[in-house]
Amino acid sequence: MTATEKLSGTHRYHVLSWLVIAGVIVPVLLLACALHQNRRAAHQFEDVNRSGSLRYRSYRVAELMDHGEDPGPELQEMAAVRESLRAAYPQAVAGTDSSWQQFSNRISTDGYAEWETTTRMAQASDHLTAAIEAQAQSQEKRVSLLLGIGLLGLAVSLLGTSRLLCNLRLSRERQSRLTAILDASTDLISLADASGHYSYLNDAFRKFLTLDDNADIAPLHVLDGHVPWSRERLQYEAWPAVLRDGFWQGEVAIRSGDNREIPLSLLLLTHRAEDGSVKYLSTIARDITDRKTAEDALRRSEARLRRLHEVTTARALTLAEKMESILHLGQEFFGLEVGFVAQVEAGKFTVLHSLDPNYLHSSGFTCDLPQTYCSRVIASGEVQAVACASASDWRDLPAYSLFGLEAYIGAPLWVNDVLAGTLCFSSKASRPEEFADSDLEILRLMAQWISGEMAREEDGKRIEAYSVVLKFQMVELEKANFELATLATQDGLTGILNHRTFQERLSEEVLRAARYGTPLSLVMLDVDSFKHYNDSFGHPAGDIVLRAVANLLGENARETDMVARYGGEEFVLLLPQTDSRGAETIAERVRRAIELAPWPQRCVTASLGVAVLTPAMKDGGDLIAAADTALYRSKSGGRNRVTVADSAIPADTPLRVLQAGHFEAGSAAVKPPG
Ligand code: GH3
Ligand code: MG
Ligand code: MG
Repeated sequence: MTATEKLSGTHRYHVLSWLVIAGVIVPVLLLACALHQNRRAAHQFEDVNRSGSLRYRSYRVAELMDHGEDPGPELQEMAAVRESLRAAYPQAVAGTDSSWQQFSNRISTDGYAEWETTTRMAQASDHLTAAIEAQAQSQEKRVSLLLGIGLLGLAVSLLGTSRLLCNLRLSRERQSRLTAILDASTDLISLADASGHYSYLNDAFRKFLTLDDNADIAPLHVLDGHVPWSRERLQYEAWPAVLRDGFWQGEVAIRSGDNREIPLSLLLLTHRAEDGSVKYLSTIARDITDRKTAEDALRRSEARLRRLHEVTTARALTLAEKMESILHLGQEFFGLEVGFVAQVEAGKFTVLHSLDPNYLHSSGFTCDLPQTYCSRVIASGEVQAVACASASDWRDLPAYSLFGLEAYIGAPLWVNDVLAGTLCFSSKASRPEEFADSDLEILRLMAQWISGEMAREEDGKRIEAYSVVLKFQMVELEKANFELATLATQDGLTGILNHRTFQERLSEEVLRAARYGTPLSLVMLDVDSFKHYNDSFGHPAGDIVLRAVANLLGENARETDMVARYGGEEFVLLLPQTDSRGAETIAERVRRAIELAPWPQRCVTASLGVAVLTPAMKDGGDLIAAADTALYRSKSGGRNRVTVADSAIPADTPLRVLQAGHFEAGSAAVKPPG
């Protein structure tokens, strides 16, 4: 049975049969009837024409009379003739052809009888002939009508039959094409009756069920072959839904010929009759094993990525703990018992982190790189994997005979663009399956993360080293800066402030004193006859004196005062918030301190000049000039004394001079205050 035959409905043959019966057989019967009638009429005419009216009439009349039918007016007349003949020739009128023949022969010899009989018969015959002709014509019309109807019916029947046959042929062609399409489909397509028994399976479905073309599919049911959960789903979910909605779509599973559970995506459709009852059930199923496998792989990959992400971003874990967690993940992901992170440097292979139940590759284990599977990873710079080394060229590697590892997967660790090591997992047992692309990809990600951490660690160490150097350099710089600042502000010999710094401070203090109206005094000091001291005891001894004088100045100054070397053997004391009396006191104290200091060679003295800032002075220069003038006066007055410039008095006015414990104002000597 072909697929077309299976699909075509038998009702078409019934219709065709009825059409043939109604359209051919009925017209043929009508035709036959018409022809029969026609033939009878023809015989009647023939009889009349051939043997004369007498024979026919007698025959017809006898027939009619015998059967008691109504003969009609013409035949009644004929019957009357016959009765008269019967009376005249009772022996001859017996009602048979032979007796009529005999009678006819006899009356031929009887002239009267012949004449009378002939005359009467001729009269009756004319009427009868006319009646029979009319009857014959009417019969002809009926025959023609029947013939026409028959021919028309036959034509209609033939036309209808040909159209039906044409439609049937087209329908068969369409069905044939449709069946060809269904058979070409890789989907599993079936047609079942309302009870669920298959009436059609496409080629793919037959192949799937390992049925040959001639296999009888009628006993097979749509639930056959489904695994238990799938069967339950069809019964309790799909069937109610398809009855309600006309279709159902979902996933089911069927057990294949080789006993594998095949997941299918199934579409169930019902085809209903006009009365609403389910007529057919069609199913379109697709093998979704590949999709399911891909979905499972994707789900597995997502789960792996999520767990890797959790490990790498866990704040509570240290780097070492993260490394260990990653090795655990790898063991689980790849189903391999050993995992380690190794460093490769100068052809040497060293295990840094390890998870090895056999303690074969514990942390610190080292060997030559060519003795490891990792040499392949290092040589290629790519992930390498083997599920069964003994069945591949990996068995030729020295590592195979050394460690006997059957399964291995390893990825390179690129640290700052240098191939610094490997992340590997291995097992003495071979893997039942080859490594999938997703395995290689997840290992690559794990290695990338470890590479990043190693790079960060390396960078950290480098930064730490840099920061130590930097700190040292900063200390050195600060020292140098301090020294520079010291050099810039201090006098190299005495360690007190230098001339430039004095000038800066003087300007500031002059401005401050002028703004706030506070007093500001300046004391200038010059070591007496210092040239001679140098000449007598040498410059180094002179330097000692200068340093000692500086110290004495510092000791006798207040914190807010400023001591500076003005130049050579000259020093200054800048005294903010100090009037001439206070300045004079300090100057005298300094002078006495110098004079009384325990000098090693000989007594050293100094002359001092004191000046106070006055409104008449325009800047610090005027104050210096005034102090210098007072100092000059101390020199010219005999040295070892203090002279206070009287600011109200012009510079050339004689000044009060303190010498060796005595003050002089103008020319008057004043007793110094207690
Ligand atoms: P007067 O009492 O008039 O000030 O006489 P004086 O000799 O002190 O003055 P003078 O200007 O003639 O000589 C100053 C000397 O000071 C000359 C110079 O050698 C000496 N001198 C200047 N700077 C230094 C120094 O840094 N170290 C030493 N040892 N001597 C210095
Ligand atoms: Mg001098
Ligand atoms: Mg001097």
